[in-house]
Amino acid sequence: MCLNLTTMNDTQLYAEIFELPIPWHVTHIELNKDEEEILVFIDADLEGFQWKCPKCQKPCPIYDHRQPRRWRYFDTCQYKTYIVAKLPRIHCTEHNVQTVSVAWSEPNSRFTSRFEAFAISVLYAT
Ligand SMILES: [Zn+2]
Repeated sequence: MCLNLTTMNDTQLYAEIFELPIPWHVTHIELNKDEEEILVFIDADLEGFQWKCPKCQKPCPIYDHRQPRRWRYFDTCQYKTYIVAKLPRIHCTEHNVQTVSVAWSEPNSRFTSRFEAFAISVLYAT
């Protein structure tokens, strides 16, 4: 598939690159030239989406949101690129309050799964 970038804005471009699953979408992007960082802020459409407990997969209501967290992705040219999101926490009747699992990263990791896999392949190649 080839997408025409001239008809896309920056948030659509990063949403395509990250292949964000429902209900996540890119809200805005910050370019920090001093730190050479690109921060891609994403958020979830909460309406109509049923979150699941990460331990038992049972549908659960949202309890609250964690503080914003960032995950390192591949660089955009010379800029370190991060996904930034506030993850919802759900309340499971069996497992109490749990942070939802996300498709782009393992629990408690500071890197996206793709970045982590790439870093590991580089380590094994040397
Ligand atoms: Zn549960």
